[in-house]
Amino acid sequence: MRLILFGGPGVGKGTQAKILSTKLNIPHISTGDILRQAVKDQSEMGKKAGEIINRGDLVPDDIMISIIKERLSKPDSQNGFILDGFPRTEIQAAALNKLLEELNINQFTVVYIFADEEELIKRLNYRRACKECGKIFSLQKIDGLDKCPNCGAENSFYLRDDDKEDVIRNRLKVFKSSTIPVLNYYKERREVVSVNGIGNIEDVNGLILTELES
Ligand SMILES: [Zn+2]
Repeated sequence: MRLILFGGPGVGKGTQAKILSTKLNIPHISTGDILRQAVKDQSEMGKKAGEIINRGDLVPDDIMISIIKERLSKPDSQNGFILDGFPRTEIQAAALNKLLEELNINQFTVVYIFADEEELIKRLNYRRACKECGKIFSLQKIDGLDKCPNCGAENSFYLRDDDKEDVIRNRLKVFKSSTIPVLNYYKERREVVSVNGIGNIEDVNGLILTELES
């Protein structure tokens, strides 16, 4: 199965992608994770991208396209994949079309996880990441804890720059101005599966799988 996941910041898109990846046994290709790793490694591309991400802006199309091209050409992507965070602009969508044509792929499903905007802002602002392992938790979940439940690191929780409210507002603005047109682009051409992302993670995942089966 080949999926393209859409959703505003904070909608739980990455979490859903990870679960789907395990259940469907196909790789989760997160451009956000690939970029964050590059920033951490201080690669040439990472240095360029880091500054842009911290402002909440979009990484330029040419960088994104080359990342995806390289990733989709790897052997583990041949039987399916979940794209998370790409395409985010119409230029990227057109580049993806071309790339999929080159790879002889014409079947894929677009999934849109939607949510109320104020609900999203609340969710993101209440998120904390672990400095050591990168895992993300809601504030409620780590209330009173001084050790990361995932890796055991001490006092490692922090609010990611891109989860701060002003940055979130900018991300939502960017999402609406750049990504919603991509979604509309797909809606005009194929069926888009839409699922409400507010709710229990497993319930939302169940909804997506049910929609995909029907
Ligand atoms: Zn951790």
